[in-house]
Amino acid sequence: MEIPTHCTLCPRACGADRTCTRGLCGGGPQLRAARAALHFWEEPCISGTRGSGTVFFSGCTLQCCYCQNYRISAENFGKELTVPQLRDIFLRLQEEGAHNINLVTATHYLPWVLEALALARPQLAIPIVYNTGGYETPETIAALDGVADIWLTDLKYCSPELSSEYSHAPDYFAVASEAARQMCAQAGPPVFDREGILQKGVIVRHLALPGALADTRAVLDFMARELPKEGFLVSLMSQYTPFYKAFEHKSLSRRISTYEYRQAVNYAVDLGLCQGFMQEKSSAKEEYTPPFDLNGL
Ligand code: SF4
Repeated sequence: MEIPTHCTLCPRACGADRTCTRGLCGGGPQLRAARAALHFWEEPCISGTRGSGTVFFSGCTLQCCYCQNYRISAENFGKELTVPQLRDIFLRLQEEGAHNINLVTATHYLPWVLEALALARPQLAIPIVYNTGGYETPETIAALDGVADIWLTDLKYCSPELSSEYSHAPDYFAVASEAARQMCAQAGPPVFDREGILQKGVIVRHLALPGALADTRAVLDFMARELPKEGFLVSLMSQYTPFYKAFEHKSLSRRISTYEYRQAVNYAVDLGLCQGFMQEKSSAKEEYTPPFDLNGL
């Protein structure tokens, strides 16, 4: 494994020398994670009945101002791990009955993660879920070809103004929309096992934000018109809860209304985006954020 000396693992391409410094994402020379445990709050075809074997990596390439996991994504809380320790974590989660290995925000540690997966591969028999904010380079997606079975990706915004204001990424939609196309082409249409657990495919998530219904519609328009029909599952999420720096933005300081979410769901259905998931409004609760307590590390 080569640690990047001029890091371009994500579209920020900040050029950090990762052998000795941290990049904009918080990623440094050594793997860092905050939790590795069975997780039951993903889409039902991911969590199933036994849970998803989820590893939450510390740091994040996007740094959204409302991140519910800000303690690890922005504050970089976590514990350093070696590559063999990460391999052992994957195998332990499998032994605990996980339906899959779920890598949450792993891109800034891609070379480390690929090596740990290669070490685990002979004994690993469950699908690998790559859980991402969608801000991925074509090179990262290509590097995961044949490794990631399932892409659990976001399409957060269409508007450059919103993505700039909330995630400092005016190019978010340009990057994430192309990434979603590439993921769909790579993974192909959804494949389930007999228990209804996803084995292969793409879930495209969109978290409906308060006061941003027009942008939600634009994102859904893209999914309906540009992504392969029946080639992915859509997950339209209502769970937005103000966290972290959300209160610095007036429009983000409340949850979305039932009316806003219904409008979004109706719009998706009218577009024919019926293969996927919606959430109960009661999902908007702080308790659904997992405790980042180094469990399983
Ligand atoms: S992954 Fe981190 S260090 Fe690498 S380019 Fe992106 S922000 Fe910079």
